[in-house]
Amino acid sequence: MRYISTRGDAPAIGFEDVVLTGLAPDGGLYVPETVPEFSHAELADMAGLSYAEVAYRVMRGFVGDAIDDATFRRIVTETYAGFNHDAVVPLAQLSHNHHLLELFHGPTLAFKDIALQLLGRLLDHFLGQRGEQGVIMGATSGDTGSAAIEGCKPCDNLDIFILHPHERVSEVQRRQMTTVDAANVHNIAIRGDFDDAQAMVKASFADQGFLNGTRLIAVNSINWARIMAQIVYYVAAGVALGAPHRAVSFTVPSANFGNLFAGYMARRMGLPVKQFVIATNANDILHRTLADNDFSRRALEATLAPSMDIVVSSNFERLLFEAYERDSQAVTDLLAAFADGRAEIDTAPMARLRELFASHRVDDETILEVIREAHAHTGQLLDPHTACGYRAANVCRADATTPMITLATAHPAKFEAAIKRAGFTGAPLPDAMRELMDLPEHYDVLDADLDTVQRYVARHRRG
Ligand SMILES: *Cc1c(COP(=O)(O)O)cnc(C)c1O
Repeated sequence: MRYISTRGDAPAIGFEDVVLTGLAPDGGLYVPETVPEFSHAELADMAGLSYAEVAYRVMRGFVGDAIDDATFRRIVTETYAGFNHDAVVPLAQLSHNHHLLELFHGPTLAFKDIALQLLGRLLDHFLGQRGEQGVIMGATSGDTGSAAIEGCKPCDNLDIFILHPHERVSEVQRRQMTTVDAANVHNIAIRGDFDDAQAMVKASFADQGFLNGTRLIAVNSINWARIMAQIVYYVAAGVALGAPHRAVSFTVPSANFGNLFAGYMARRMGLPVKQFVIATNANDILHRTLADNDFSRRALEATLAPSMDIVVSSNFERLLFEAYERDSQAVTDLLAAFADGRAEIDTAPMARLRELFASHRVDDETILEVIREAHAHTGQLLDPHTACGYRAANVCRADATTPMITLATAHPAKFEAAIKRAGFTGAPLPDAMRELMDLPEHYDVLDADLDTVQRYVARHRRG
């Protein structure tokens, strides 16, 4: 399997390189040159299989000969054995033909675990084969940092450094990172805000001399392996609800669009999907683009669903590439116009998008109302991100006879402040996480100074 860039000006590379690389050198994102397709019979055969087995079958074609079958099967089985639900991604029924796909049973209680648990192990495997050590650096405003740390914790060939803004993340979020006790996990609290932390990570990628040749690796949501791992639960949920014999629809609380693009890939692989609904919070670039053809930046708004607070939706470029029928020049021109302020999508690609996608924007006040409404109607306590999805599904669904699957992207206990504002007494942490508040923390506080941070990283990495 080979991967090409959406901007069309970078050489095609294999799976191993795509996992180690991230962004293509021409500034584009890697996509598979061809998409493996399942027959009706192959999809029907997946009904009733374990999540790990479905994962193996769905991802096998994207990996190609980069990893042998037995090794890849072992990696996938180990990855999902650590989840605290036997079904990995259980479905709960909300109402007639409306289902909730619970993606929060991983170690940090958000859907990012599903991809990052796999990505850490894939990186470790490839680095081990090359006899290399790698260093991961990332900045986090909350969720991604802990999921990346948990994903890298078991990896012999990786050190991970996560920068978070000192005293500006919630206690649960900080403790999910800092209570991890492993020699290769390094937490840095930066005296500054998220942008200061992010700027130092970016500068470190731009000039990697401080690592003396050690490979610096990004695990952000544009990494193809993260998308690949997320395709699996669309197939698993679709098959559980009757695909390929009947079609299903999905609603996805969206930000960088990695999650939803994975759903689009599941459809391209043969899963019959009637409709995708994009749910956004007040940071509504995806909704404005689809509803008003207003593809432009707006100022960031801090909302009750902070993991969806974005200005640019990076993975949307992958969908544009497909909507433009893989015309990389058209995509490059469109993104240049976007970088200048505002772009408009052409008529034919826009029509293709609107045939399959609907969208809805949910503001903070409505999030609180939906948490109450969903609880009253279904007995489920939804986290604020999932609440955006619940409302969007009800507003946008095209027909009531097709099962609608709304993706639950986080456990409500992660966002207890919003749950309380909605009028509930709280949302208890699951048993597996109760000890979080008692464990000792490990982190250092550093000034927002590039040289200080880089010297820290160079000194603390192993090997
Ligand atoms: C990251 C995240 C999202 C957004 O997912 P994208 O793949 O960026 O669209 C939604 N909800 C939660 C809880 C998240 O952590």
